[in-house]
Amino acid sequence: MPGFELIGDEERAAINEIFDRGGVLFRYGFEAQRKNVFKVAEFEREFARKLGCNHAQAVTSGTAALRVALAPLELKPGDEVITQCFTFVATPEAIMEAGARPVLTEVDETLNMDPEDLERKITPRTRAIIPVHMLGAAARMDEIMAIAKKRGIPVIEDSCQAPGSTYRGKKTGAIGLMGCFSFDPVKTLTTGEGGMVVTNDRDVYNKLCWFADHGHMHVSGIPRGEDTKEIRGFDFRMNEIQGAMGLVQLSRIDSILARQRANKSKIRENIKRLPGIRFRMLADPEGDGGDTLVFFTPSREIAVNMNSHLVKNAIETKILPSALGWHFAGNWGHMLRRYRYYNVRNLASRWPKADNILHSAIAIPIYVKMSDEQIQRISRAIIEAGQQYLR
Ligand SMILES: *Cc1c(COP(=O)(O)O)cnc(C)c1O
Repeated sequence: MPGFELIGDEERAAINEIFDRGGVLFRYGFEAQRKNVFKVAEFEREFARKLGCNHAQAVTSGTAALRVALAPLELKPGDEVITQCFTFVATPEAIMEAGARPVLTEVDETLNMDPEDLERKITPRTRAIIPVHMLGAAARMDEIMAIAKKRGIPVIEDSCQAPGSTYRGKKTGAIGLMGCFSFDPVKTLTTGEGGMVVTNDRDVYNKLCWFADHGHMHVSGIPRGEDTKEIRGFDFRMNEIQGAMGLVQLSRIDSILARQRANKSKIRENIKRLPGIRFRMLADPEGDGGDTLVFFTPSREIAVNMNSHLVKNAIETKILPSALGWHFAGNWGHMLRRYRYYNVRNLASRWPKADNILHSAIAIPIYVKMSDEQIQRISRAIIEAGQQYLR
């Protein structure tokens, strides 16, 4: 999770270049003033190339990317969009903002969408499926794509936590009809705030591109004020400062992932003999971005105890098992209780499998800049916690 670890002189220089050459911060137009600087457009081209996709659309955030990706589907009240119960709250928020009802599947030991539960939750009203590649690692995309294809339902990947990760040789986000990415401050690449949607489908790209800019069709050669329009849109435009940062950050992605993977595998090696733990199941171990090391303990109680031992020893953990408020649907009564199915006293009981898996897991964030000393310290603390609480 290193975007913020690496912000420095290169980002500063890229931003200065905008000011040295006209200072236009708006993404479109101003041709005379901008001296051929189009940072956002260039970031989109490079991002699409890196993903192996035909089109990329930059937007203001990962949440915006999800909302924009849903625009071409023209959802109506009563439509359902399926995602998973373990994701950042942004995924169901975007579904609701687009006017559909979120349907949330269980996750399995990949911590991503459980394909069996997906199959059960499809109805005649299902308009899209959004698997989420949580914590840097791909969902079981072969099964998910097969189920979606059989029913003719489009798949939008939420790859906000997994840029550059792969699944059986394909980049996550480039497998379904569309893929969404986030560049917020804790993501692998950061532009402060920002997001991206990728697709290979020209019509889908056009619609989402227009939607992200008030419906502007960006016809070249005519002034923006006289641009043509067919659909209602909104404003999700990225600005040039974000584009400049994004280009620099993107240029580091291969080395970021290589360092994360190396750091993660060292800690994993060090702790793998702890009796009673199992590592998170990976749908494609080779494609893991190395963002987070997750292991399961035998029970909720042990997970809580091991986690607090780590925290007491100044070892950082994330999301699991304690801070699931923003990542597990069992805690989203504030937004889900308007639907009768979710308006129950024990909301977490709607996902018993995920509830158990998530609460018995520990997650260690992996950084690019981890010294060997730090890696040893983390490994020792995990082993100590295990010796104390695992029997
Ligand atoms: C971060 C994140 C988002 C939203 O991205 P923002 O840029 O913070 O709006 C969406 N989905 C997942 C899985 C995320 O981790």
